[in-house]
Amino acid sequence: SGRPNGIADLVDYWNATDPDAVAVQYGPRTWSWAELADRVHRAAGALSAAGVGPGDRVASYDKNHPASLEITLACARIGSANAMVNFRLAPEEVAYTINDAQATVLFVGAEFLPVVEELGDQLTTVREIVVIGGATDQYEDLLAAAEPLTEIRPHRPDDSFLQLYTSGTTGFPKGAMLTYGGMLAHSVTNVEHAGIVEGNVALVAMPLFHVGGSSWAILALYGGASIVVVRELVPEQLLDEIVRRKVTHGFLVPAVFSVLLNVPGVADRDYSAVRELCYGASPMPLPLLRQCLETFPFGFRQVYGMTEACGVVTTLSPEDHRDERQRHRLVSAGTPIPGVEIAIGDPSTGEHLPAGSVGEVLVRSAQLMSGYWGNPAATAQALPEDGWLRSGDAGKLDADGYLYITDRIKDMIISGGENVYPAEIERVLAEHPAVLDVAVIGVPDERWGETPKAIVVGKEIDVEELLAYCRERLAAFKCPKSITVLSELPRNPTGKVLKRELRRPYWEGVERGA
Ligand code: ATP
Repeated sequence: SGRPNGIADLVDYWNATDPDAVAVQYGPRTWSWAELADRVHRAAGALSAAGVGPGDRVASYDKNHPASLEITLACARIGSANAMVNFRLAPEEVAYTINDAQATVLFVGAEFLPVVEELGDQLTTVREIVVIGGATDQYEDLLAAAEPLTEIRPHRPDDSFLQLYTSGTTGFPKGAMLTYGGMLAHSVTNVEHAGIVEGNVALVAMPLFHVGGSSWAILALYGGASIVVVRELVPEQLLDEIVRRKVTHGFLVPAVFSVLLNVPGVADRDYSAVRELCYGASPMPLPLLRQCLETFPFGFRQVYGMTEACGVVTTLSPEDHRDERQRHRLVSAGTPIPGVEIAIGDPSTGEHLPAGSVGEVLVRSAQLMSGYWGNPAATAQALPEDGWLRSGDAGKLDADGYLYITDRIKDMIISGGENVYPAEIERVLAEHPAVLDVAVIGVPDERWGETPKAIVVGKEIDVEELLAYCRERLAAFKCPKSITVLSELPRNPTGKVLKRELRRPYWEGVERGA
């Protein structure tokens, strides 16, 4: 079957092909392709009338709502870009993001309007505010009053229509400019991999301000699937949605799978419609993956990727998950998807290293962002002239081309001159039956510069026993010197542990060595 030519025309393509099929499901509401196309045309007309033109930016600040996608697709038609704001941010950070994007029109969910009102003049570029939802749904009024704009403005493949901010787990958020060409390449290959076809149903439950929400939703729509947009992540309800809406495909992060497994009767539901669910965005602990594979009858696909590449760059297929002879591959992130090249570079020189050596994961692909908005210095660092994106992840390739992510380079601990990857220690601790969650950080040490420390969550943790358990399984310099028990680890909305927060109290007033 055919597919849209690009991102800009995808609603027109499916409207022409199957106008009455359901395109979007959101709570009790559904929109057919004909309705979605009309809404996107109206949004494009309204933006144009508001003076938003090529190269301009708008922003949307809301929990998951189809409006954010409609606005993005409308921007794609008029050569503008939608900057998505992380709704979990503190008000100052929200202002930072909107100002950084220089957004002229701000679409805001009714529940976040008080934040925007409080920010007031601090939003220096916003000329117009449109409230989504609430008692007077200004967004719906805007669409109803708008003149539909059905034409598509010419654009180049490396123009941007979507600006997503890196989660900021390692630094200040930067706006990755995702392009028409990049998103098209990403959509085509992922649709083919997942086997998404018309009539499929894709679960969009991760936040739309992240590639795991937006890029996933866009590729599903590109493939002609109906998307189920989930606003609040309530574990029991999420399982209900999967069953009731006959979800065929989805993407969830490991932290969400972990809570789903605790829902009573999780294994006894009817998952017969589900073809495969993807997981990724943070490392999947092996015991959790094993439990998922035992509990659910459907296939699992691991995806590894990053905002700067529109999302997925490697995947471990459901077949790889079932291959009994290759069990070691369960801890691998799989192989590059078509159109993506992966290399391992020397972190200081960038020189490519042979299979088996650990270095920085480098990515070359048409999927890559055009750069960070308004930040040429950060762009030059992440995306040098040679065209290989520096992922900031440490990893290695094996002889069969499978990628293994060791850890994030910034999280690496240098103890007495030895490189220690926290992820290796975390994997060992995660296998201990009493440990439910774990993060390892480097803390200052007079003798060694820094040493590993484990922060664990669990039931009846015996710290001395856990330290002895590590000593049996890890080289001495990798063994945590201390363990602290917490009730919960701080995580960002995509399930990444906020190690900066865990490290902060130990490093206050201490200069971190090289
Ligand atoms: P910042 O750079 O500000 O910290 P971020 O890197 O968290 O933001 P994202 O683009 O959301 O922003 O995350 C990409 C990172 O997520 C990857 O570089 C990698 O560290 C991690 N990641 C993604 N998929 C996987 C996976 N399957 N296994 C392990 N880690 C993963």
